[in-house]
Amino acid sequence: MKIQILGSGGGEGYPALFCSCAHCNAARKAGGKSLRTLSQTLIDGKLLIDLPSDTPSHFLRNNLNLGDIGYLLITHTHADHYIPQLLDTRGEDFAHNMGVEQLHIYGNEEVKKKFDGVFGMYGIRESIRKNILFYKAEAFRPFRADGYTVTPLKAHHAPEEKPLNYIIDDGKSVLLYLLDTGYPFAETLEAIVGYGKQFDCVVMDCTMGINYYEGHMNFAQDVQLKEYLCGAGACRKDTKFIVAHVTHNHAGLHEEVEEYFKDSGISVAYDGMTVEF
Ligand SMILES: [Zn+2]
Ligand SMILES: [Zn+2]
Ligand SMILES: [Zn+2]
Repeated sequence: MKIQILGSGGGEGYPALFCSCAHCNAARKAGGKSLRTLSQTLIDGKLLIDLPSDTPSHFLRNNLNLGDIGYLLITHTHADHYIPQLLDTRGEDFAHNMGVEQLHIYGNEEVKKKFDGVFGMYGIRESIRKNILFYKAEAFRPFRADGYTVTPLKAHHAPEEKPLNYIIDDGKSVLLYLLDTGYPFAETLEAIVGYGKQFDCVVMDCTMGINYYEGHMNFAQDVQLKEYLCGAGACRKDTKFIVAHVTHNHAGLHEEVEEYFKDSGISVAYDGMTVEF
């Protein structure tokens, strides 16, 4: 499996759009890996996770074509993960010769509700709407999508909806994708450890840095979770651990976040990072 982390920033992006704090100013000056766009990951060039407002720039920058993507998993409906308005140019005179005719979208029930709410007000062309198919995903109920077995997990985040994390399994390799979430609930940990296969790669939420908030993980919890998963036999020594969703409020430049994790065996994501396993 090959994953591309298209956006590694937290909810506001980093630097944040409207912000002039010391971290944002330092990131603007440093550039490079310290510039982080909104959360999105592409698997094997065909299974996309989340649809933030940075999607057009992600696809431009990485020489990708959204018309080639037929399968989209949505974690939750926070604006840094899901902007359904982006879909209204998916067809008719706005897009020609798309690689795939239909887009299959999996997510909690708020995902379709938000789509219907937006286009209930502003409309979407019928020929475009008919090729967008929604499937309700529920925690701990696996489904098949484009040859992958996807197992949604209950995320510890946004209690006003039912946010999901995902296990993605292509039959050879298994990815554990934990964005966004606080330290996983006991029932989620049980499902992870009980999955029956070891994970080859784990992407973890590190939003809170050295601070604490229940609905996102912090650096110490990332280290703690890695130790827990390895101790429980869910991961191996060579499992790749990556942290992402880095924010200006709780973390400094890329190098400073790397410094924190230097002896932990955990890599710090950056925009465009590619990992194969
Ligand atoms: Zn987020
Ligand atoms: Zn800032
Ligand atoms: Zn969120």
